[in-house]
Amino acid sequence: MKIIKLKFLGTASGTPVSGLFPASVLVEKDGKKMLVDCGEGIQHQFFRSKEGLRGLSAIFITHMHGDHVLGLPGFLMSLSLLNWEGRIRIYGPERIRELVEFTLEATLSGTQILDKFDFYANNSEFTVGDLNVKPFRVQHRVEAYGLKIEEADKPGKFNEEAAKELGIPKGPLWGQLQRGKKVYINGIEFTPGQVLGPARPGVKFVYTGDASPSEEIIRQARGTDCLVHDAAFPKGDEAAAHEFGHSTWYDAVKEAKEAGVSQLILFNFGGKAVSQLAQIELEVKKEFQNSYLAKDLWDFYVKK
Ligand SMILES: [Zn+2]
Repeated sequence: MKIIKLKFLGTASGTPVSGLFPASVLVEKDGKKMLVDCGEGIQHQFFRSKEGLRGLSAIFITHMHGDHVLGLPGFLMSLSLLNWEGRIRIYGPERIRELVEFTLEATLSGTQILDKFDFYANNSEFTVGDLNVKPFRVQHRVEAYGLKIEEADKPGKFNEEAAKELGIPKGPLWGQLQRGKKVYINGIEFTPGQVLGPARPGVKFVYTGDASPSEEIIRQARGTDCLVHDAAFPKGDEAAAHEFGHSTWYDAVKEAKEAGVSQLILFNFGGKAVSQLAQIELEVKKEFQNSYLAKDLWDFYVKK
C-alpha cells in the first residue's frame, strides 16, 4: 500500500523536557519496521506504543549525541532478555558498536546478544521491505545524517485496450510488458511505453534529525511528499538555533516551501519551544497549512 506510517516515540531535543522523550521515530510500511534514533527511555516508549518487535529489521542512529544513543544498549539488552530470535541491522556512527559492547560488559549482561546484530556505517544506503533508505549529511555540531526514505516508483497502469488493438494476446506477454520488458511477436517489437500509462511515483519523505537549515535538506526534500524537520527553537531564535546546530520552526517552513513538499511535520522541540507549542501550532498553520507538530506516541501517515 502506498502509505508509510511514522510513529513518533519521542519528540524533544537534547535537554530533558517534562513529559517528552528524546526524538525518535518508528517507520513502518506493510509490517516492515525501522527505528530511527534511540535515546533514553525509547524502549519504554516502544513497548508502551504496543508496537511489536515483529518486522523490526533495522535501527538507524543519526549521530553520536547522547539523546540519540543512550537508550540503545538497554533496548538491545531487553531483546536479549526476551530471547528475541530476529536479526537487526544497526546503522550508526563508528563508535556505536563500542558503546553497546562496553555497556553490555560493564553491566555484566553478557555480549552474546551482539551476534544478533550487524553493524554498518550510517552513510550506507539500505532497504527495509520495499523502502529505500538514503542517508545524507546535515549540518549539526557533530557528523550527523538525515534520511530520505522512498518507496520505489511503480510502473504505470496497463492499458488492455491498447494491447488488444496492437494485437498482443492476453497472457504471459502482458505480464512481461507490465514488468517493463520488451516483447516480440513475429519479429515485431512492442515496448512497455505502448501499453503502460505514466509511472506512478512511490511515497517519499525526508527526516532531518538534528539539523540547521541547509541547501542539502531542500535538495533532498524536493520531489518528496513530506518533510519531517527539526524545530528545536521558536521563530526569532534563529541565531541560537543555528549556533547549536538546530532550526527554528520558521526555518523548517521556509525549507518546506522551497522544496515544494505538501506536508510538513515539526519535531525535536527544545524547552522554550515546548512551553509555547499551542501558540507555535497556530502560527505555523498560518504559514504552511498542511503542517503538524508531532507529539509523543502520535501516528502520522505519509501519503501522496
Ligand atoms: Zn545532536
